[in-house]
Amino acid sequence: MKKIAMIGVGYVGLVSGTGLADFGNEVICVDIDEQKIERLKQGIMPIYEPGLADLVKKNVEKGRLSFTTNLAEAIRESEVIFLAVPTPSAPNGEVDLSYIFNVVDSIAQNLNDYKIIVTKSTVEVGTNDRIRDHLLAKGVPKEKFDIVSNPEFLREGSAVGDFMRPDRVVIGSDSERAMEVMREIYRALYLIETPVVATNIRTAEMIKYASNAFLATKISFINEIANLCELVGADVQVVAKAMGLDGRIGKKFLHAGPGYGGSCFPKDTLALTKIAEKAGMRATIVEAVIAVNQRQKMRVVEKLLKYLPDLKNKNIGILGLAFKPNTDDVREAPALVVIAEILKRGGQIKAYDPEAMNEMRKHFPQITYVSASEDAAKGADALLILTEWNEFRNLDLKYFKTLMNQPILIDTRNIYTPEKVLGLGFVYDCIGRSIKN
Ligand code: NAD
Repeated sequence: MKKIAMIGVGYVGLVSGTGLADFGNEVICVDIDEQKIERLKQGIMPIYEPGLADLVKKNVEKGRLSFTTNLAEAIRESEVIFLAVPTPSAPNGEVDLSYIFNVVDSIAQNLNDYKIIVTKSTVEVGTNDRIRDHLLAKGVPKEKFDIVSNPEFLREGSAVGDFMRPDRVVIGSDSERAMEVMREIYRALYLIETPVVATNIRTAEMIKYASNAFLATKISFINEIANLCELVGADVQVVAKAMGLDGRIGKKFLHAGPGYGGSCFPKDTLALTKIAEKAGMRATIVEAVIAVNQRQKMRVVEKLLKYLPDLKNKNIGILGLAFKPNTDDVREAPALVVIAEILKRGGQIKAYDPEAMNEMRKHFPQITYVSASEDAAKGADALLILTEWNEFRNLDLKYFKTLMNQPILIDTRNIYTPEKVLGLGFVYDCIGRSIKN
């Protein structure tokens, strides 16, 4: 059992702090957001993540998990300090490390005994060395701390399962003492034979970027193929399925759609191009992945304009705002681009999402948010599906058609069978399946 401070109680910090508590450690989660901590103390989750509330409750009741805003005390009382604060893109595309170094400053001020500082946030390659240099420059003796890179690979929407049963755990450190402690912290995963990649710090940092960039590449690749399928009369669903049956390729992340979003892929791909630039090379593939993705979000708007060239005073229904199902996260979601473009052209929007409307309201307070799919369809000149939530997969389209002003359905997640929708009298479009309306 180790005493751990988890700094930053967001998607990663809350899930991994709770997960580490469930592995038997004593975890104190720290955030600067007082309201968030106050609500967590009352058992109210700040994010939507399936299975999280129960796991938090269980570990709080067992006395292994607690919440505070008192960073100094948490640092002093813990042997291991995890950093899970944001690392957003700076205006120049590089990683903004100010959150990280704010916390590192507090660690320097409150370091009362030997500590292991573990970076879980995704940080530019070389950051952990900078953290070490920073602490030394602040006068912290080198034998009083060790540095570990322990990047996180959980996916929002299935974060609890991903953390509790990961494909692998990556631990980068040059200290055997720190490695030993990390093994102890993750003992529960060793018992279920989770592969652990123990390596040096810079390799661990690089693994995170390489993994995310590769997944983003698969998405942009299949989106490019989808666009080509439309032009040559092929069906990307079947192409992707057949490709995925090849064990060398694998079927995951080959779903054509409106482009990737979320808090990680866009910023991490961009950061990787900047890391490459600083190191004196161009990450040509990753640059192309980013360009394809930006274009893909606009392709959704182009599809809409194909059927409604003048959006002025047109009513557009949107189903799905989150960047993917089972999350309330709208960061970099395709919906952000699509909504902005529709509004720019004078269109009116009624949107529905099972979990993400509060988040989207922060970006677009001026659009109408409704509480059911059919309300988004009422009076709509076109209906757009932007996120493949399960509840959108089986809409009563026959009924929806009676509600709409014009029966135009743009299914950017390919969740409907074209023949069926066309058979109901809809004008139907999707991604990568050449439709003859
Ligand atoms: P988030 O924005 O959801 O949460 C970050 C939290 O840190 C917020 O609650 C914020 O109030 C808090 N915070 C900011 N400054 C603080 C400080 N000085 N002291 C204490 N708390 C502070 O972020 P996230 O999505 O959890 O991402 C965190 C890191 O993990 C990022 O580097 C991200 O790239 C990485 N990551 C994210 C995911 C994901 O799916 N979200 C997956 C893997 C890795």
